[in-house]
Amino acid sequence: MAHECGQKTINLPATTLPVTADADVVVVGGGTSGFIAAVAAARTGASVLLVEKAGYLGGCTTAPYNTGLSQFFDSDGNQIIRGLPWEFMTRMEADGNAFLVERRNEIWPVWTRKVALDMMEEAGAEFLFHTWTSGVVRDGDAVRGIIVHNKGGTGVILGKCFVDATGDADIAAFAGAPFDMTEVENLQQVSCDYIACGVDHLRVLEWARANKDRLGLHVNNIDEPVKASGAQRMLSIVFPPNASDPATGEKYHVGVMPQVKLCIHRDAVRIQGNSDINPLDPKALTRAEADGLRGALKHLQNLRDTIPGFEDAYIVAQSHLGVRETRRIIGDCVLTIDDLRGNARFDDVVALNCRGLDYHLKGTVFKYEGLKGHHDVPLRALLPRNVENLIVAGRSIACDHLSQASLRGAATCLATGHAAGVAAALAAEKEGTVREVNIREIQKTLVRQDAVLGVGERARLFE
Ligand SMILES: Cc1cc2nc3c(=O)[nH]c(=O)nc-3n(C[C@H](O)[C@H](O)[C@H](O)COP(=O)(O)OP(=O)(O)OC[C@H]3O[C@@H](n4cnc5c(N)ncnc54)[C@H](O)[C@@H]3O)c2cc1C
Repeated sequence: MAHECGQKTINLPATTLPVTADADVVVVGGGTSGFIAAVAAARTGASVLLVEKAGYLGGCTTAPYNTGLSQFFDSDGNQIIRGLPWEFMTRMEADGNAFLVERRNEIWPVWTRKVALDMMEEAGAEFLFHTWTSGVVRDGDAVRGIIVHNKGGTGVILGKCFVDATGDADIAAFAGAPFDMTEVENLQQVSCDYIACGVDHLRVLEWARANKDRLGLHVNNIDEPVKASGAQRMLSIVFPPNASDPATGEKYHVGVMPQVKLCIHRDAVRIQGNSDINPLDPKALTRAEADGLRGALKHLQNLRDTIPGFEDAYIVAQSHLGVRETRRIIGDCVLTIDDLRGNARFDDVVALNCRGLDYHLKGTVFKYEGLKGHHDVPLRALLPRNVENLIVAGRSIACDHLSQASLRGAATCLATGHAAGVAAALAAEKEGTVREVNIREIQKTLVRQDAVLGVGERARLFE
């Protein structure tokens, strides 16, 4: 058995690392915000290298099989996110792997990897998979390089401007920028997600319609007609916390949350359960993955035994845990829940957001509150204090815990990725110092790339 080593330390000799690559813009993390940032920076004229620890692009928009990217349209029906994020969605739809419905878009998440790959390659953005970033080379107020580990060894990648799209603000933290993080008791839960195939979804639906009393409150779409072939709207069935296998009395359980969500798409089912852990604690992550797998296998066995249509179901894929919330940077501006509810406007707007507040809290507490209208996301919320050439995109931008429940929405992460990529490319022309770039130049470039920075009369300000 391994021993806990407490505060024990060891000194390593000073070391010389090879510089393995150099680019105008270096993006760390090829997830939701990261791949869009890389495409945007390349289309704005920068040389780009994206570094990703997994072996695919798309992050949370593919790995935890997240299907409902939200929200592109506000409560007044205005489309507030377009540009590269919408291009991604329409390309998914053109391939038959998305439903673009005004308030609730749905995608088949595995296909994200393919469309993201196409967009990166067409833009000429380079990428390196299976590569972890574990530190930065800092020089005064600037990051000069990132320290990376992969099967080739340890090296440094130099850049003029860096985009931190790790979701966890890893690069900002390595650079010593200040950040905030909610205590684990109140943090958004992580999810263990699995895909099972071999499901006769028509029979499962028949059963679900006849057994609504056994389902939780979130029974989406089960009464809608289903297309027998091809893509269909995702169907979601949530078993309530006390649901159990009628034969054995055993509760359905994946992770620590005795509530299980089944999302049916074609003949595949996504099984999701949640856990209350600190996602920056490697031991907690390990335990949650291990417990999640055992729970999912047990749960699937229950489904096979009790629900018609599941008899031949088998798990075909498990990615890693889906993480909703960790570090939030302290930026030049920190968005608050009042900004969201008050439809705040900022001169340095680079994205708009209207996604509802979506809380997955300890145990089975789930709260959702729609937002009216939309608010601005200022560039300053993407700029970590004390670092000149680093831009943060995605779920770790500067905001409070309550507003992160909205701002982490996938569509909004795509939009902040677009903004970060454009800003980084323009900053690279000024040796990376983002704060020296004229904000109007960033806004005009974003609008030329079809981003929405204002609705109605306000849109004119940014043309
Ligand atoms: C289970 C789950 C369900 C969700 N459902 C919805 C939903 O229905 N609708 C919705 O709108 N939103 C949903 N979300 C939220 C949304 O999908 C995410 O908040 C958003 O995709 C995060 O985008 P991101 O770019 O910040 O991070 P990610 O997409 O997670 O990308 C981060 C990337 O960085 C890489 N990375 C991290 N650290 C390093 C490192 N040190 N070195 C190299 N690479 C690194 C990761 O491998 C990953 O690819 C869900 C989230 C989860 C977890």
